[in-house]
Amino acid sequence: MLFASLLLPLTAFPQGKDSLMVAAIIKEATENSQLENLANELLNGIGPRLVGTPKMQKAHDWAVANYSAWGITARNEKWGEWRGWERGITHIDMIEPWVKTLEGTQLAWSPNTAGKSITAGLVIIPDLADSMAFQNWLPAVKGKFVMISMKQPTGRPDYNWDEFGTKESVEKMKKERTAQQDAWRKRISKTGLTNSTLALALEKAGAVGIVGSNWSAGFGVNKIFDAKTKKIPTIDIGLEDYGLLYRLVESGKNPTISVRADSKELGMMPTYNTIAEIKGSELPDEYVMLSAHFDSWDGGTGATDNGTGTLVMMETMRILKKIYPNPKRTILVGHWGSEEQGLNGSRAFVEDHPDIIKNMQALFNQDNGTGRVVTIGGAGFLHSYDYIGRWLARVPAGYKQALETRFPGSPAGGGSDNASFVAAGVPAFSLSSNSWLYGSYTWHTNRDTYDKIVFDDVRNNAILTAILVYMACEDPNRTQRDKIVLPANPRTGEPGKWPEQRSPTRKGGVD
Ligand SMILES: [Zn+2]
Repeated sequence: MLFASLLLPLTAFPQGKDSLMVAAIIKEATENSQLENLANELLNGIGPRLVGTPKMQKAHDWAVANYSAWGITARNEKWGEWRGWERGITHIDMIEPWVKTLEGTQLAWSPNTAGKSITAGLVIIPDLADSMAFQNWLPAVKGKFVMISMKQPTGRPDYNWDEFGTKESVEKMKKERTAQQDAWRKRISKTGLTNSTLALALEKAGAVGIVGSNWSAGFGVNKIFDAKTKKIPTIDIGLEDYGLLYRLVESGKNPTISVRADSKELGMMPTYNTIAEIKGSELPDEYVMLSAHFDSWDGGTGATDNGTGTLVMMETMRILKKIYPNPKRTILVGHWGSEEQGLNGSRAFVEDHPDIIKNMQALFNQDNGTGRVVTIGGAGFLHSYDYIGRWLARVPAGYKQALETRFPGSPAGGGSDNASFVAAGVPAFSLSSNSWLYGSYTWHTNRDTYDKIVFDDVRNNAILTAILVYMACEDPNRTQRDKIVLPANPRTGEPGKWPEQRSPTRKGGVD
């Protein structure tokens, strides 16, 4: 019996059973989709999921409650702790020379304004000769907000210029902008400080707040990261309002702004991964894993980074539990905490579960937006073309439109949580989406919100993922883990190296 199954040719997969299962997956995903409902609860009901915040905790509890309601075993697994912080209101107004409420927000982990508004004038980091001149200038920031970002010459994204501008005007704009960016970089480097040490130096010299604008090269869109200050607030202002203030300062019109930023420090907070499982019936100690980071930045609601990856994995689990409740291998899902600060949740899981890692058949991670999956690479596993090719063959054509495979591909060294597993030798694959202008419009931005989700694409991805997981579970063979010989580094000529497994930061957000 054993001998016979070892000799089973690859094509002897029972096609009838597979077709029925695939049809049932599609039916459930299409006629009983929970995606909109889950998205509304997570993104609008709970909101962004910054590590160390109460919302992140709430999201973990919400995920466990959903899995439990679907009859799936789930738990929150603690792997570390992080500086706890809770965002309150930010209100920013220009008071002089006229009144305007400005579009902006405090950065993550920004200190607050002690329950009141701070009203003050603004200064721009000047273009000085060297760090000595900068130190001499520093007392000028006392009692002022300091503007530390360049003024953008245009608020129109390049695609808009390319569509409507003349060739000459587009070239001129780009050339001038590049020169201006170079000059700004030099201006900052001549202070002798980096972007983060600069904020602290300004704070120490008595500035009342730091004002920046991290434009993301699209209409109305800024990236919102973390504050570097310890005592004074750091705010980001949208391109239009930042440009307004900057031009008023430059032309001597002395604008003043009023800023209120409420936030709470919560001490150290525990950090978790949510892990859920459908036990395997024949090979319970072999695993097929779904993977998507659960945390986000908090300028928007983390809808496409990584709400959509999260939704794909939750919906896939729900569908599989309903129509494939007794998988051959165990199905796991990992909703990772703190990917954004360095893949911490997934690195912790890899470190804490060597037994699972050793016996993992395959892992599928999604983390680049709402679009249909258009690329699956072999991650540098020599035989990946064989098993992924076979699994994909069972996906009906309509659900893999424009899908390209790249074999053997190369191992992810970072970028998302699949890299944590690849480093440990696990056949871990990224389900890579088409862009929908992810990089400029939603990735880490204030516009990463529910309305950017393309539900038909997310549904497509849940169907694709469910079929891949089913096939990986049922495959008569274990996946082979042989790695390709990596090409030599073209610069140094050194032989290519497989990425190394790294430990997570288990105590984060503190110096
Ligand atoms: Zn992400």
